[in-house]
Amino acid sequence: MKDDQIITRRRALLAGAVALGAAGVAGAVGVLVPDTVEEPVGPVAGAAGAPARRLASKPSVYRLEPLTGYGVPRAAPRRTLVRHEPLLRMSGRGRTMVLTFDDGPDPRYTPGILNTLRRYDVRAMFFVCGEMAVANKDLLARMADEGHIVGNHTWTHPLLTRLTRSRIRSEMERTCDVIEDAYGERPLWFRAPYGAWNRAAFQLGAELGMDPLAWTVDSRDWTEPVPGTRTIVDRVEGGAAPGVVVLSHDAGGDRSHTVQALRDYLPRLLDSGYHITVPRRQYA
Ligand SMILES: [Zn+2]
Repeated sequence: MKDDQIITRRRALLAGAVALGAAGVAGAVGVLVPDTVEEPVGPVAGAAGAPARRLASKPSVYRLEPLTGYGVPRAAPRRTLVRHEPLLRMSGRGRTMVLTFDDGPDPRYTPGILNTLRRYDVRAMFFVCGEMAVANKDLLARMADEGHIVGNHTWTHPLLTRLTRSRIRSEMERTCDVIEDAYGERPLWFRAPYGAWNRAAFQLGAELGMDPLAWTVDSRDWTEPVPGTRTIVDRVEGGAAPGVVVLSHDAGGDRSHTVQALRDYLPRLLDSGYHITVPRRQYA
């Protein structure tokens, strides 16, 4: 993926031209389905990228489908299919949305987000960076305790498209290891920094048992200067729709507005009838 393509896609995303719905999933059967059973999983992503450097989203056209069967045996070895595009959204039954928080955990902001999620009994996803996770294992443990999903966002938040395959593998593998140590399970989900995916990332992610998840709506809380609570709230509420996966950040800069915005929009989304959940993965 070339940078200009990433930027083009990002512009398209910002313009609201978000790809919705079903795109071919390379014959794969991994489906993102709402976790109506409310099983936990955890998030957090490393703060390595300065907001200004973020290339942002390159969501593709997968859809996360509703879970039709729960309980992929965790212990059983599973074969993860190699995708060519990341998953972007959940296909929906009803008004289901997923909230994701990247680049943490950061002890300054992540606890505030967790507190709000707990207050409303909502599960979310945290795509953590290994270098952040290793210093904040207690927060990963809390994510596990409270039912959140933790995904892999690499160790140092590099632009993967500029790394060798062995470097990419190291970034991903080390992060899987620290997640397993602190969260209790190896991650099932992976998200490329800046949304910059390449073939090696898909292949290595699959080797490590992870499916690639992008997002549908970018709250753009990473821009400089920080957009402010009201703007973040407007973006999330404006982008709300069935199946949407929302991108926010709990690290990588001043995220106080992200923390406050969640306090504002979460109860309103719930009042509007949205079911905020996390996906479950299943292979047919
Ligand atoms: Zn990130």
